[in-house]
Parts: sequence; structure tokens; C-alpha cells
Amino acid sequence: MNIQEHFNVQCGCGVEAPLRTTLTNPNVGRRFLECVNYKISDNTCKYFDWVDPPTCERGKDFGNWIVKKNMDLDKDVEDLRKQILHVKRGREWFVMMINCMNRKIKEMEDGITVKMEERKNKENLNALEIEELRVKMEEVKAKNMSLRGGNKAMKENIELANLKVKCFTALVVILVGLGIV
Ligand SMILES: [Zn+2]
Repeated sequence: MNIQEHFNVQCGCGVEAPLRTTLTNPNVGRRFLECVNYKISDNTCKYFDWVDPPTCERGKDFGNWIVKKNMDLDKDVEDLRKQILHVKRGREWFVMMINCMNRKIKEMEDGITVKMEERKNKENLNALEIEELRVKMEEVKAKNMSLRGGNKAMKENIELANLKVKCFTALVVILVGLGIV
């Protein structure tokens, strides 16, 4: 049924009255012509005319069934639309979460890279310090060796002096014994 169909009927306003179809009981499916100004106010044009004769009982029942079916389908479409929107939002949320997680992972990776760099630098510094300590230890060792050498010489000198004193004492004892001194 083409509800855009026009019957070329002009009301008192001089405007062509559009053809409409009512979806309400008890005239469901019945076409009518109505002035576009009909319901604007009480003073405007009241042109209204049925195009079709009154619907029979069977036609009314069938028309109501069609209208109800149409409303159910509209509701189903609306429900599906909501579900699609829900899925779409879920997907958007999921994508957002993935992006957020990727950002966090990137931040963590960057943090680890910086920490590893710091650790490497610290290790290099430690190696440098260890090398410096090793050099100092070598120096101390060398000084110790030289001191030990000095000590040994000093000890030998003391032993030699003691020996000289012992010999001198023995000589004096012998000379005294011989009555020379
Ligand atoms: Zn009118």
C-alpha cells in the first residue's frame, strides 16, 4: 500500500490533503484524507474524509494482528540494536584495555631498559673501583716486601753486632784469663 499516494483533494486552506492510513482500532488499515492544519488549533481547518469504507471484522482482526506483529518486530529490532551497541561498547572497552595494557607493558619495558643500563654503568664503575683497589693492593704489597727486606737486613745487622759483642766479650775474658788485661 502506497501511503504517499495523493488523491489531489484540496481542503478550504487550498492545500492538498495528504492520504494517510490509521493503525488504531477499530479502523486499522483504513485510509483517510486530512488537512495538514487539522490539529494545530481549534480555529484551523477541520477537513477530514475517509477514503476506504469501514473495515469488516475479519479485516480489523487481521489488521490489528499485523500492527501487533509490526510492533513486536520493531521491539526485536530495538533489542538487537541495543545488543549491537552493547557489543560495540564491549569491543571499544576491550580495545581500550588492550591499548592501556600495551602502554603499561611499554612503560615496564622502558623501565627495565633504564634499570639494566644503570646496572651496567654501576658494574663498570665497580670494575673500575676494583681495578683501583687492586693497583693499591699491589702498591701496599710492594711496600710490605720492601719493609720486610729492610727488617731482614736490620735483623742481620743486629745479629752481627751481637756476634761482635760476644766475640769481644770472649776475647776480653781470654785476655783477662791470660793476665794480659
Ligand atoms: Zn485545510
